[in-house]
Amino acid sequence: MTIKHRRFIHSKLCIVCGRYGVDQAHIRSISLDWNKEITGMGRKPSDVWTLPLCRNCHTEQHQMNELKFWKKHGIDPFEEAINYSLRSDCAKIRQEAKKLKEKIGNNT
Ligand SMILES: [Zn+2]
Repeated sequence: MTIKHRRFIHSKLCIVCGRYGVDQAHIRSISLDWNKEITGMGRKPSDVWTLPLCRNCHTEQHQMNELKFWKKHGIDPFEEAINYSLRSDCAKIRQEAKKLKEKIGNNT
């Protein structure tokens, strides 16, 4: 985890409820489409796949099926994570997110 990106995520409000004071939540259930891209790049899921979640929402995320959690709140975690990463203070993360987005754009 890059420090710059961590700081960037920590400066945000909770993506679910808008509260201040967030954790960095990793997206574990990478969807099949996105996973293909990542595996194709020969890498583990990277720091691109993190979102700001407050403690309450983070606990809820861990207590239920992750994809159900995002669905319940009407959030596409993959899309959102890419969008956050594109605005990150970390150049490496920005670049990686850009690459992922281009790849996916080419596939659709
Ligand atoms: Zn929250």
